[in-house]
This record gives sequence, C-alpha cells and structure tokens, in this order.
Amino acid sequence: MITRFAPSPTGPLHLGHAYSAILAHDMARAVGGQFLLRIDDLDQTRARPEWEELIFEDLQWLGLTWDGPVRRQSDHFDDYRNALDSLARQGAVYPCRCTRRDIDAAASAPQEGVPDIGPDGRIYPGTCRGRPYDDRQPTDALRYDLSKTVGPPHAMPAFTETGPAHAGEHEVTADYLLTHVGDPVLARPKMAASYQFAVVIDDAETHVTHVIRGEDLFEATFLQRFLQGELGLSPPIYHHHRLIRDDQGRRLAKRDDARGIRTYRQAGATPQDIRAMLGL
Ligand code: GLU
Repeated sequence: MITRFAPSPTGPLHLGHAYSAILAHDMARAVGGQFLLRIDDLDQTRARPEWEELIFEDLQWLGLTWDGPVRRQSDHFDDYRNALDSLARQGAVYPCRCTRRDIDAAASAPQEGVPDIGPDGRIYPGTCRGRPYDDRQPTDALRYDLSKTVGPPHAMPAFTETGPAHAGEHEVTADYLLTHVGDPVLARPKMAASYQFAVVIDDAETHVTHVIRGEDLFEATFLQRFLQGELGLSPPIYHHHRLIRDDQGRRLAKRDDARGIRTYRQAGATPQDIRAMLGL
C-alpha cells in the first residue's frame, strides 16, 4: 500500500489536514506500506516556503514520518506539459479564452436536478469548443473536449471507493461528466496544469495505490478517473473521509487559524490530544 498526503503550502494546516494525514499515514503503516508527502504548489502565486516549512514541522510534531523525498509539483511542470501534449495529439484539447464572466453569461439556466457548478467550477457551456489547438495563445486556458468521447462504443472507466459515505464501485460515464462536470480545464494561463490534471499524473508517477482524502473531493474523482483512462493510467483505490467541522458545523478553512495545528501545539496540546479530538 502506498498512500500520500498532498497539502498546498498556502496556509497553516488545520485539524482537517491532520485527520487526512494521520489516516493516510496509519493506514499505510498498519500493513507495512509507504506514506508519501507531496507539496501541491502548482499555484506559484500563492505557495510560500514558510507554509511549506510549517507543514513539515506540524507533521513531524504529530509523529508522522514519510518515505522517500518530498515531491513538489513545481518540479514536474514538464511532466504535465508532456501529458497535455499527448492528449492534444489525440485531438481532444482546445484553447479557451472565456473569462469567468463570459462563462456565467453563456451558461444556460440549470435544469432541475442537474447542478450548474461541478467539481471543476461552473459547467462549461462549450463556447470555445472547436477552436484548433494550434491557435492557442499564452492567455488561453486549455480544455478537454468531453463531447469527443460521448456515445458507444467508448469503454467507460470505473473506480473503487472504500470511504464510508460512498463505498462501492463507481462507473464514470461520459454523460455524467458532460452534465455534472463539463469540459475540464487541463491548464490555465501561467500555470502548467490544473489541479485536476496534475494530481492524476502525480498519483500515477508516485505509484500511489490508495488515495485517502476529504469527502469534498469525491465528485472530482469521477473527472480524475476519466483523465486517467485517457492517459492510459491505472487508477488507485479511493477513500474519501468525513470532513472535520467547527462548532457551527462549517468546514475548516485555512484562514481559520484557531484550529491550526500550530495553534494547538503552541497552547501545549500533545499529538495524542489531537488524535483524541479527531476520534482517532
Ligand atoms: N492539494 C489538495 C488540497 O490541498 C489535495 C489534493 C488531493 O488530495 O487530491 O486540497
């Protein structure tokens, strides 16, 4: 078993991160497996070395150890570009110049029971579909044309989920993706890859067998599994865990420093206290 914890160095780790990290660490260690640490610093405008340093400190303080060198996304921009080129050669990638405002304006009124926002943002109405890849400009995003994959006999992938809320096999159909996700962004201007695209390559290159992460990313898994299929990568098993909430039932956020691991640490809590607070 190879698991990983993949925080973004854009703020302090909070109890929710601790839960994810401890779970992934303990699940691997329980069977003599490996636990990897990855720094998701795709967005270089927000990543800061001091947050990265604090991630190491907090994890060490929690008593977690990781195997091998830390992987940083910023060291793998070429890998993402190469993967993107290979998809583009298959003719399914197009440049998109739409701003968020353009997309809002062009989106049709949501139909009953169908969301208008998916795990990749507002479901893209397809305005730039059909623009040739070779027309791309530095200010364009690059999107995957899901309409190219619709209809039989395209074999659709599936993934195994072991988390409590959605345990079982989940099929990923083109129809589902078209209505619930929309053409995903693979790269943004000034960013080598989107989160959805990079994470698929990161997990594959590091041979992660079990992705353990928060329930908020469950929907994104359908898209990630689809991209794995298009890139010819085999999928890990997924385990989406419950989210840690504050007293008002809200999800913890990075700005919520009161739940920061560092804050507990400085207030004299022990790693055992943190585990107990998390029900671990
Ligand atoms: N870097 C992502 C985050 O901070 C997590 C990525 C993942 O677990 O797939 O939420």
